[in-house]
Parts: sequence; C-alpha cells; structure tokens
Amino acid sequence: MVSLQTFRQRLAAALPGLELRDNEPMYKHTTFRVGGPVTLMALPRSVEELSTAVSLAREAGIEPFFLGRGSNLLVADRGAEAFLIKLAGGLDRLELLGENSLYVGAGVTLAQAAVFALEHALTGLEFAHGIPGTLGGGVFMNAGAYDGELSQVISWADCLDESGRIQRLAGEELELGYRTSVFSRKPWVVTGARLDLTPGDPAAIRARMEDLSHRRRSKQPLEFPSAGSTFKRPAGHFAGALIQEAGLKGVRIGGAQVSEKHAGFVVNTGGATSDDILSLIRLVRDTVLEKTGVLLEPEVRMLGCKL
Ligand SMILES: Cc1cc2nc3c(=O)[nH]c(=O)nc-3n(C[C@H](O)[C@H](O)[C@H](O)COP(=O)(O)OP(=O)(O)OC[C@H]3O[C@@H](n4cnc5c(N)ncnc54)[C@H](O)[C@@H]3O)c2cc1C
Repeated sequence: MVSLQTFRQRLAAALPGLELRDNEPMYKHTTFRVGGPVTLMALPRSVEELSTAVSLAREAGIEPFFLGRGSNLLVADRGAEAFLIKLAGGLDRLELLGENSLYVGAGVTLAQAAVFALEHALTGLEFAHGIPGTLGGGVFMNAGAYDGELSQVISWADCLDESGRIQRLAGEELELGYRTSVFSRKPWVVTGARLDLTPGDPAAIRARMEDLSHRRRSKQPLEFPSAGSTFKRPAGHFAGALIQEAGLKGVRIGGAQVSEKHAGFVVNTGGATSDDILSLIRLVRDTVLEKTGVLLEPEVRMLGCKL
C-alpha cells in the first residue's frame, strides 16, 4: 500500500481542481459534533472527479471511506488514518426524469429532494423530509421513517465499482432491507438514484410534511447534536422502550446522555467526546441485554472506533 502522503501528491497532480483537506477535524462533519482528524479528505464536485479519485485510491491499495452529511456516524476522538471522500455538497444533480421521477445526486440532501418533489406536485417522498442525510447515505442505510423508506421509491441507483466504473443497480439488486443495503458488503459508492413518485396535491403533500415535522419536533431531542436513533429496532420490540424499561433514560457519561425526551437517542449535551458516546452506547447495550435478554445492534456507523 502506498502511503497517504504519496497518494495525496498523485491525487493532486491528477486532479489539480479537486479540493483536498489535510488532518480535517471530523467534529465539523458529523451531526454528533465529535471526532478527531482524518488524514486526507477530498470533496469532489463531479462524478468524473469522484471516479478518478476512487480509481487512484484503489490502484494505491487505499480503501476510501465515503461520507455524506455524517448524520449517522461516530468518529473516534483520535480521528482515523484514512482517505475520506465527502459527497455532501458535491454531486448535486437534482432534476425531473420524465413526468413522475426524479434524478437525485448522491450529495443532495433528502430534505432538498423532498422539497423538489413538492414543488413538482409529486408525492411519496414526504417521509424523507426530516431525515438529515444525503441521498447517498440514505441509500446505504435504506433510510426511512413513518412507514416510508427509500426502497419504496427507488427504481435504480448509479454507483462506482471498485475500479471507478459506473454500474447501474436495479431496485432488487440494491438488496434494501431494514437499515441495510448491498453497500454494507460491497465497497461501492452511490453517485445518484432515480426515485419514482406519484402525482399529488401540493397542499396535501405540504400538510403531510408539516405533520411529520411536528411529530419529530415533539418526540425527538432535535435541540441536541445526535445521530438519530442509536440502535436498530430489534424484532418485536422498540429500542427506546427497552432502554427506558432498563432504567437508562437520562443516564450520562461525561457529556453524552441517553435523551430524557426519547431514550432511543444518545445525545451530545455539550462537550461530549466520542469516547463518552461509545462508553454510553456500550453501557446501554449491556444493561438492556442483562435486563431484557434483547441484544441491541447499533444503527450508528463508526469510523476509527468500534463497540
Ligand atoms: C436528528 C436525526 C434524525 C434522524 N432520523 C432518521 C430517520 O427518521 N430515519 C433514518 O433512517 N435515519 C435517520 N437519521 C440517521 C441518518 O440521517 C440517516 O441514516 C441518513 O441516511 C444518513 O445519511 P448521511 O448522508 O448523513 O450518511 P453518513 O452518516 O455520512 O454515512 C452513513 C453511512 O453511509 C455511507 N455512505 C454515505 N454516502 C454514501 C454513498 N454516496 N455511497 C455509499 N455509501 C455512502 C457511509 O460510508 C456510512 O457508512 C437521523 C439522524 C439524525 C441526526
């Protein structure tokens, strides 16, 4: 494997216009607002830049880590010696495909896509309006809420394979399940997707979005940094209810706390470290297992640390 320093020189020479950042602190790029520096971050603006960066990395034996908005990610306090490619802000194509479909680039936020659908009187994406991630992260996670999930609207997704070639995967090839997709075992990057929607009444679409937003604000601790639900929903249970039953609501480690508003969220009440959050996640997992016999699996992805 080539060193990240040598790789950086090759990358800058091949793509002089590509924005690169060295030792970039990850607390700036995650909704938990924690995380130390990653060695090298690239912010490609186009699929072509991304493709070249991916192929050069793979030629150098380097496995890139793909980042959307970091809304489902915990990064270690010491950071990670890694090459990270941030897609949020780039790959921002958002347009109608035919009458009832959208093309959404990987870096577009789900909120932007949902508003665009509303502006074109298309229904089916209201559920995604309050999910604070990108389309790319959304496909990776098969993001969903309030009985909707991306699997219900995705027709296909474009991805770059290991060697930087474009591949179009049809809905079933994406293997979208509960907070999972084919990308958890295939190191490909999503560049965009087609979403199939239905003509609808803009007033009704707006009302649904407002209703869901109100429900989120009243139930979720949106006033604190977090990564949303910390754990996946275990079969036959709700993670938040199990955590509450185990007496963990409000429990703290350092600046991390099991939210008093919704026990399914671990929040950063200010000044939390990644270690605080990780220790609290472990405590919750172990206590819930001991008291209820149910093993909670984290929904939050991790970089530079593990449970
Ligand atoms: C307040 C709050 C509320 C939330 N509510 C919900 C909710 O209701 N429903 C829900 O499902 N989630 C929810 N989340 C979690 C999060 O927003 C989603 O998981 C979202 O899909 C993550 O998108 P992201 O762009 O932030 O991905 P990131 O956190 O940046 O990355 C998540 C994973 O996706 C991978 N990834 C990112 N982009 C790509 C790409 N282009 N190609 C391949 N892999 C990629 C990353 O490597 C990582 O493994 C919430 C989070 C917060 C903070």
